[in-house]
Amino acid sequence: MTSSRSRNLSRLPLREELKGQEPYGAPQLAVKAMLNVNETTYDVPADVVDAIAKEVRSAAAQLNRYPDREFSTLREKLADYLNRDLAAEGEPAQLTAENIWAANGSNEIMQHILQAFAGPGRSVLSFPPTYSMYPLYARGTYSEYIAGTRGADFTQTPADVAAQIKEHRPNVVILCSPNNPTGTALTLETVEAAYEAALESDTIVVVDEAYGEFRQTGTGSALALLPGRERLIVSRTMSKAFALAGGRLGYLAAAPEVTDAMRLVRLPYHLSAVTQATAVAALDHSATLMANVERIKEQRDRIVTALAEMGLHPAPSDANFVFFGGLHDEKAAWQHLLDDGILIRDVGIPGHLRVTAGTEEEATDFLASLQHFISGVTT
Ligand SMILES: *Cc1c(COP(=O)(O)O)cnc(C)c1O
Repeated sequence: MTSSRSRNLSRLPLREELKGQEPYGAPQLAVKAMLNVNETTYDVPADVVDAIAKEVRSAAAQLNRYPDREFSTLREKLADYLNRDLAAEGEPAQLTAENIWAANGSNEIMQHILQAFAGPGRSVLSFPPTYSMYPLYARGTYSEYIAGTRGADFTQTPADVAAQIKEHRPNVVILCSPNNPTGTALTLETVEAAYEAALESDTIVVVDEAYGEFRQTGTGSALALLPGRERLIVSRTMSKAFALAGGRLGYLAAAPEVTDAMRLVRLPYHLSAVTQATAVAALDHSATLMANVERIKEQRDRIVTALAEMGLHPAPSDANFVFFGGLHDEKAAWQHLLDDGILIRDVGIPGHLRVTAGTEEEATDFLASLQHFISGVTT
């Protein structure tokens, strides 16, 4: 914001905690490789574009009416989709539409969760470095935010997570797995230990699996832990693996009583008929959309290997991005890459940067530019 605009803003009777704050937002620059917000960098395939256009066209004729408040078709399709994910892991397919809630991005899902279970006089615990929106959801819902801690390598153990939940007794704890920005997934033992500890303080446990589809073989999804755990919520999104960040569709799976709680806080008709139609068409074509996930995972693994060969320190990744350390001057590296038309993310951790895994060509350009930077500095 320009200084004259912020002076004007400060004349308004703004809430105390908003004074002097900047709006959240990563740079949106038109460069050849936009690898800073973990979107799928492949365009939406043409047949899926056609299917979305057809579905939206038929919804358009009914836009004089409010949309289906219960988004029943969408919830059924989301349950089917998650059941296929569970079946692929050899887990029983147990989810129905009653277990599903959806909103405009998982951002709004988190807001609904905190509106229902946190709020004034209540608290939210998460474990930085993690998704930088969590404190903002807390602020927006007038909840106290508690920053937990991680091990020196940013990992979390069952005992450590359980101990921090017992110490702080938050109303909501948010686990992010795979974690943004580090890319590392939690073991299911860690989620189970968090849940056991949370039972003592009546705490809701949210596992943000925004990058769930990119997890490594052998990494389990917390979806498998849902049966019998009424206070566990697994959050997912169509923004990443489905290549649908612009469609704004996030969702959660939980016990039916959790979705009933969400109904108490949502605004009426929060999910537009256009959004529902878009998401339904995309789910009907999930196999086509998901075909790129395997390609992205290959590039992700390639980036990890190549960065290690350069003498940098990439974290193991279960996501569609790689977090790496070992840079002497991460700001100079970031700028060098940008000058080459490659935008990645400075997450504010000294010596570290985060890059989205995109196409093979994008990975090649990124690695070449970074290699050039490192050679230039050391010679
Ligand atoms: C990208 C991301 C999301 C997705 O947010 P949407 O609102 O669904 O686009 C959620 N959680 C994490 C940790 C993310 O990195």
